Amino acid sequence: MAQSFKAVAASSLREYLLALQESGLDGLPESLASPAAHLAVQQPAALPAAAAEAGATPHDQKHESLEKIRKSLGDCQRCKLAKGRTNLVFGAGNPQARLVFVGEGPGRDEDQQGEPFVGEAGQVLNRIITAMGLKREEVYICNVVKCRPPDNRDPEADEIAACAPFLLRQLQAVHPEVIVALGRFAAQTLLGTKEAISKLRGKFRDYHGVPVMPTYHPSYLLRNRAVSGPFWEVWEDMAQVLRLLKLPVPEKTRKR
Ligand code: URA
Repeated sequence: MAQSFKAVAASSLREYLLALQESGLDGLPESLASPAAHLAVQQPAALPAAAAEAGATPHDQKHESLEKIRKSLGDCQRCKLAKGRTNLVFGAGNPQARLVFVGEGPGRDEDQQGEPFVGEAGQVLNRIITAMGLKREEVYICNVVKCRPPDNRDPEADEIAACAPFLLRQLQAVHPEVIVALGRFAAQTLLGTKEAISKLRGKFRDYHGVPVMPTYHPSYLLRNRAVSGPFWEVWEDMAQVLRLLKLPVPEKTRKR
């Protein structure tokens, strides 16, 4: 009997993740100590004007909790994505993370579970985080839009605009030292540009005083799993992020 699509997808994902592991892009060399202690440190920052527009007072910007922001979203009906969602996917991870990953929007698995990056793309993101010598619980993960676009279509401008103030408040609350923008939508939304991700990636940009490293989305890596180039470009980007955080860069050797 023919394998179901899900079974085929799961086995090819497994193969891809195994290939990443074999390429050396997996895990932390035992010689490197856990950077967890460094990841708890936070630094003060300026208050962005746009946070005030998003409904946060200066006091909130310093002290607003993620719980408060989640509460203010409530049973959000601010855009048309509300109709089709099972769960609003707010964000997950360390509320005081030094590093935040911003993706595009929930897919089917995330919509079901109410947590970002728990499906196939999430497994690739987990590999990237592990390869950086970090743990998923140490970083914070969220998306440009908090509700799943139907059939995983691209989020539309009005949907992004409805969610953007809350993303800003979340980033203010976590106040990371660096943000990784995963893919075109995250990079273009945070940076207010239409430039292609291939042009944006690899260089730090600025989001309200916080350095942003745009890089390819894990789904793009999955779609291009036959070639290792994009993965290595992501790794180079993550190495820059680690250097900025003054964390050790695990050595990875590219097999040609
Ligand atoms: N892709 C995203 O951009 N975000 C998720 O949470 C899952 C997949």
